[in-house]
Parts: sequence; C-alpha cells; structure tokens
Amino acid sequence: MRILILSDIHANLAALEAVLTDAQSFEYEAVWCLGDIVGYGPEPEECVARVRSLKPRAVVGNHDWAVIGRMDAEDFNVEARRVVLWTRQRLSAISLNWLSNLPHEPIVEGDFTLTHGSPRDPVWEYVVYPAVAAANLAHFQTPFCLVGHTHVPNLFVFAAGSQHKVNAMRVRPGQPIALEKANRAILNPGSVGQPRDSDPRAAYAILDTERSTWLPRRAPYPIEVTQAHMRAAGLPERLINRLDFGW
Ligand code: ZN
Repeated sequence: MRILILSDIHANLAALEAVLTDAQSFEYEAVWCLGDIVGYGPEPEECVARVRSLKPRAVVGNHDWAVIGRMDAEDFNVEARRVVLWTRQRLSAISLNWLSNLPHEPIVEGDFTLTHGSPRDPVWEYVVYPAVAAANLAHFQTPFCLVGHTHVPNLFVFAAGSQHKVNAMRVRPGQPIALEKANRAILNPGSVGQPRDSDPRAAYAILDTERSTWLPRRAPYPIEVTQAHMRAAGLPERLINRLDFGW
C-alpha cells in the first residue's frame, strides 16, 4: 500500500494543493498527517477542510493545540501567537471540532508509530539531533516512527541491536530509502507549508509498505500567492518573507 505522508501544512493552501497534485501519480490509498495543519499561514479553514476530505489518520500538532485553546498561546513567540489568535477567529465550528478530536498521543499503524514532535513528548519535543533520537528509541515499540515538527526532512537510523549508534541522514528528494525492520528509524517528511531546510518547495513523502520504501518528495508551488494572502490578512512580515528562503 502506498501512503501519502503530510506534516506541518501550516494553513498554506497553495503548497498543500501542489503536493496533492504532485502525489497523484503515486496512486496512494491512504493519507497520514503528522500535525500542525494550521498556524503561520493564511488559509486555515480551507486547509482543515481539504485535509479532512482526505480522511487521514492524523495526530495533533502544537499549533493546532494552541488554536483550539488546549494550551496557552503565551508559549509561542510574538508572531506565532498573533497568528494563533487570528486563526482561531477564522475556523468554522466543524473545523475546530475536528481539530479538537485529533489524538495527542502517538498512534500506531502497522509497523509505524505516528506523532508530531517525538514519541516521548508528542507535541513539543524536536527530534533534531541523534542524541534526541536515541533517547526516544525506548518510547516506541514499532520498527519505525514518523515525526514532524522540525520542518526538516531527515531520517535517523539505529544500528541493529544498539540503542546508541544513530546515523542522522539528510534525505534527497526523489531518492527512495529502503526501510529495514532490523534497523529501526525515525523519519521526518519535512513541512508542506513552511519548509526550514533552505529549500522553499513543499516537502512530503510517499511510504510504500509493500516495497518498504520511503520516498522524499518536493513540489514547487506559487509562493507569491500564499504571501499575497498573508499580506492581505495582515500577518507578520517576517513569516511572509521566510517562505522565499525555505527557512
Ligand atoms: Zn510546525
């Protein structure tokens, strides 16, 4: 089965549509979403409705949580907080309710654990360093764990039988990675709507559970469209500009 893996869409509809178009040729049969559907971007309602229509298996992200009032927006920086409050006003009752029902604890699908931040701290922890990845190994039981939150597509592989030998690997778009159950791994598809690896294109992944491959993908999208909508909505200039740089 091929599965479309989305994370950190951040209310960027142009990026989401570009990904869905790019992914069409893979004829995926399911969608998994690793959280942060809203926050930062100008189209929260449209993005929640679009994702909802895909009937995904999904977990909640920290921005989703803040928007539904499950945590204090004070935990965010000034700009992110502004957008959280702005977003809250723009979501329909249906969308707020749907976000409210997303699980906060990791969910398991076959050989994969799905979470936003990390299996140890599902909403908040960033798996950016091998040491953090290693510390999380005991917190999931499946061979593989999928995370988002950092907005950087990458992969941490554990040498079989070792808790401590972790190889951090950057992934290359279009180059499939073979998954081997003997080597457990934490994989991140990157961010659809706000990439932070200096590549401004939307990031996602296709998981093929029959061939046991993970295919990182990038899709160009009309960044200026999203930026124009952000400007029209009066969203913070720094958040508008960073989309140009993928940072
Ligand atoms: Zn995010």
